[in-house]
Amino acid sequence: MRKVVMRLLQSLLAAGVSLALSQGVASAEEQEKVFAIAIHGGAGTINKASLTDEQEAAYKAKLSEAISAGHSILAAGGSSMDAVVAAVQVLEDSPLFNAGRGAVYTYDGEHELDASIMNGATGEAGAVAGVKTVKSPIELARSVMENSVHVMLSGEGAEAFAAEQQLALVENSYFNTERRYQQLQTAKEKLGKADKQAYVELDNKYKYGTVGAVALDQEGNLAAATSTGGMTAKRYGRVGDSPIIGAGTWADNASCAVSATGHGEYFIRYHVAADICSRVKYLGESVQEAGDTVIHDVLLPKGGTGGVIIVDGKGNVHMPFNTEGMYRASQVGNGEINVAIYQDELY
Ligand code: ASP
Repeated sequence: MRKVVMRLLQSLLAAGVSLALSQGVASAEEQEKVFAIAIHGGAGTINKASLTDEQEAAYKAKLSEAISAGHSILAAGGSSMDAVVAAVQVLEDSPLFNAGRGAVYTYDGEHELDASIMNGATGEAGAVAGVKTVKSPIELARSVMENSVHVMLSGEGAEAFAAEQQLALVENSYFNTERRYQQLQTAKEKLGKADKQAYVELDNKYKYGTVGAVALDQEGNLAAATSTGGMTAKRYGRVGDSPIIGAGTWADNASCAVSATGHGEYFIRYHVAADICSRVKYLGESVQEAGDTVIHDVLLPKGGTGGVIIVDGKGNVHMPFNTEGMYRASQVGNGEINVAIYQDELY
């Protein structure tokens, strides 16, 4: 009888302890809800020699401003969708990057912008391709996702939808910058007859400048967004990976969120953003393993250059690239902002 009472007491005690423990764990989690954000401003032939100290400082300042715009939303308990849009819009508005103002020129001397966004909680996505008069392509991509029954709109139709949604419209010349204009002239000289090999040569020298953001909010929801002017001297309505869901952008709460930058044709064919998250989801790889494998072992041997930013549901951030540099920044929780450009910088 005594033994039975003792066992009963022991099991009651154990249950009490485990209840107390589980309550303790829950409230600790409650207190420290993890959130994180990472951004990129393009990858490419970016090394110390290619930037003056002033240029480097200007890029880093703008990256800090962009990440802070997203971070303040997350810190206040806002959604990862709002955070990625806010961060991308700071970069779209800056002439330093190849998105929005500062977008590269097409062969015909215009700007055609691409963007996409994905909500990792719902699997919903929105994208636009080849828009010429929409001030913030990422805002339009989000609007396609939220206010249309479609995922991707292009060209004039996308612009008509933007007007219906009362989004800000601008003249195509709003996106002009002298620096990008000079790049077009150089590109045209190099392209000559615009054969395939000439494009490959150009790509190797090309400084990508696409922008993107990925974020995890305090509710555990992931989001990814990407916006770009595409590639200098693009022709014939060329569309890159940035507006292709799965190639340039992907988010899934069950794995990770990715935004890509690089030679779009390769990122489309290797379905880069979704491939990274599939490896996380089905192979149980970390974002580090999955990102490194795809960027260094899958893409590079085939000639695909560029990089990605990745965040998972635990706030792990990884930003691999196989070019000389990638404009990038990250912030986990209320930790410090890490901003980097070159390969030998830590982040
Ligand atoms: N991925 C973009 C494209 O191919 C270019 C870039 O990342 O800069 O359109």
